[in-house]
Amino acid sequence: MYGSFNERETINILKKLVETPSPSGYTNEVMKVISSYLDELSVDYVKTNKGAIVATILGDNNSNHRLLTAHTDTLGAMVKEVKSNGRVKLSLIGGFSWNAMEGESCFIHTSSGKKVRGTILLHQSSVHVYKNSGSIERNAENMEIRIDEKVFSKEDTSKLGIDVGDFVSFDPRFEETESGFIKSRHLDDKASTALLLQLMKNIKSSNIQLPYTTHFYISNNEEIGYGGNSNIPSEVVEYIAVDMGALGDGQTSDEYTVSICAKDSSGPYHYELTRHLVNLAKEHNIGYKLDIYPYYGSDASAAIRAGYDVKHALFGPGIESSHAFERTHIDSLKHSASLLEAYVKSPMVLE
Ligand SMILES: [Zn+2]
Repeated sequence: MYGSFNERETINILKKLVETPSPSGYTNEVMKVISSYLDELSVDYVKTNKGAIVATILGDNNSNHRLLTAHTDTLGAMVKEVKSNGRVKLSLIGGFSWNAMEGESCFIHTSSGKKVRGTILLHQSSVHVYKNSGSIERNAENMEIRIDEKVFSKEDTSKLGIDVGDFVSFDPRFEETESGFIKSRHLDDKASTALLLQLMKNIKSSNIQLPYTTHFYISNNEEIGYGGNSNIPSEVVEYIAVDMGALGDGQTSDEYTVSICAKDSSGPYHYELTRHLVNLAKEHNIGYKLDIYPYYGSDASAAIRAGYDVKHALFGPGIESSHAFERTHIDSLKHSASLLEAYVKSPMVLE
């Protein structure tokens, strides 16, 4: 295996990240976890007005820069309405289907800082009462939060401090199996965030001298389309989104290699930069898959759309059942870490 990969540390950071609730729009706490980690490493960083963190490690060449980004924001929901029976209707944050959250435990984060427990359920869940429970459409009308408090009315729920606009986070249910799988919600994109943090740690602790000044952009608005599309230093030539590989029928991506994306919904990624990543993988015996993601966009494509003149590419660990109950394997994290290390040490494309 190419490069240094600390399996235990990577998994520990990942666990800490997924267990810190951070639906898009409510990411202060997770960004504090990131900033204290960077403080410990003595890596310089700035915070953007949007709440992202851009860390920078100087390289030999300080006129042409690189940027790697991963995002810490996740899917979630917001209180849309308190119903007359005291239950709560939801408005979803990010792109996913209602059935992916059915039965999941959650917290409602009130404005006073209280966390109220509940479960996301179909209103007509009980098959002893609703004959067609199985076929009722899971949608904004029929799904609700059953609050774990004695509430019977809208007033009861309001008294708990719950109001329209409160954020709702889903339980990650992090689990590591002996066979090397990691199961959790929000591996997208906290797995990549953990890898970037570990990469910075390796660079600092092994005194790796980077060929180019490299920025590590931890974004917090990717799931809603505008994460790493601002605050990009003008010297940045190459912009890499480190984000999940999408698995399914017809896809090449898997949970055991690093996925390199040639094209997604936003169009093709930069051809030569993508070829450079493939060549690095071949050269260092890194297990990789080249793939196309049918319904996907990244912070790299968001940066291009925002008008930045950069070469953009996308790669990351393969995530099974993305935006539902996700899973990956430690092998995918290893190969992704290897490609990250090989890339930051490599010469630039078409310099
Ligand atoms: Zn993502």
